[in-house]
Amino acid sequence: MTGWRYEVWVCDAGHTKAEEHDGFDDFDGFGDDGESCGAWKRTEIHWNENWFNAFEQAANQEHAYVQAVPVDTALPWRPRVAFEHVKGGGLCKGCWARHENTHAEHTAAPSSGDCPTCAETRRTRRGPLTRTPFGTEFMCEDCRATFRRLHERESREPDKRLYRAVLDVARGDAGV
Ligand SMILES: [Zn+2]
Ligand SMILES: [Zn+2]
Ligand SMILES: [Zn+2]
Repeated sequence: MTGWRYEVWVCDAGHTKAEEHDGFDDFDGFGDDGESCGAWKRTEIHWNENWFNAFEQAANQEHAYVQAVPVDTALPWRPRVAFEHVKGGGLCKGCWARHENTHAEHTAAPSSGDCPTCAETRRTRRGPLTRTPFGTEFMCEDCRATFRRLHERESREPDKRLYRAVLDVARGDAGV
């Protein structure tokens, strides 16, 4: 076969809880997701117009991604990660970034010694992979709404494909 090969790679790190996929302990501020994982198993391959099957299979896993690989294409494309999915998963990076910008005074809870404001933010789980003007990011509902509002304030109405889950836009493109 030639054209685009869509490989489904499933997390094989052996985690049993959703939050272990990119847990807070491994969070380095702005690093890639999947830091606490690192072991991957290729499960399925789909070709060309069947690309959405690969997205769908990845989305049904706890943690998976789709690698798009050009095979003998006329143009020298490079392989790229076309889609990523983490069910549950770790902290929302957008929430944590906003938290770090605004929260300076830590207060320790008497019982645990942990700052309740920090602890609260740490509980915010990121949402699905979302389209932004700067590429794709995992975003919770809150972050998506906030970024959309900022965009609207600064310019005109953002592109209809932005600030939506990658999977939803893909579903529309695939016509399913
Ligand atoms: Zn994982
Ligand atoms: Zn968020
Ligand atoms: Zn704090």
